[in-house]
Amino acid sequence: MKICIIGGGAGARSASRGIRQLNNDIQIDLFTAQNEIDYAPCEPPFVLRGSLEWKDIFYSGNFYEKNNICVHLKSRVTNIDRKNKYIMVGDQTYPYDKLILATGAIPFIPSIHVHNKNFDKKVDRIKNLGVVFGRKMYFYYP
Ligand SMILES: Cc1cc2nc3c(=O)[nH]c(=O)nc-3n(C[C@H](O)[C@H](O)[C@H](O)COP(=O)(O)OP(=O)(O)OC[C@H]3O[C@@H](n4cnc5c(N)ncnc54)[C@H](O)[C@@H]3O)c2cc1C
Repeated sequence: MKICIIGGGAGARSASRGIRQLNNDIQIDLFTAQNEIDYAPCEPPFVLRGSLEWKDIFYSGNFYEKNNICVHLKSRVTNIDRKNKYIMVGDQTYPYDKLILATGAIPFIPSIHVHNKNFDKKVDRIKNLGVVFGRKMYFYYP
């Protein structure tokens, strides 16, 4: 049995862990478009702010290596052939028995721009939004 996972974030990690807990023999191949894996995506703002270093945002423990998961970095999957059960990374093909999509999502970004010369005014607008939603909103600036 060979399982391919597309994605290298928390969803993919969780899926890999679940498979390994059930079975040690399944071949798992993971494909991520990024050139890094196994870090907390929530933490880069703290690096930009200066309270962490880049190395601090990576998880310790070599999860993928220890769990015998073959990680393909910088490998954007460009096609899925469901009928013949293979995926494509450029012109390379990789067959699978089961395929898991853990490709994340693209967030909706409201048309509020804070990184310009009208910064203060725009932040006021965001604070007003906080009032609209009846919630207190917190901001921090690097
Ligand atoms: C600054 C910040 C702070 C956050 N804070 C919190 C928090 O406090 N609490 C919380 O619960 N959540 C938080 N989140 C959200 C949380 O990080 C995400 O919900 C979570 O990382 C989503 O994981 P995912 O695996 O679904 O997707 P992602 O982490 O987006 O992973 C998607 C993966 O799919 C890969 N991919 C996509 N398309 C392809 C393709 N065609 N081929 C190959 N690979 C592909 C990408 O390269 C990537 O590796 C925060 C996010 C950010 C950015």
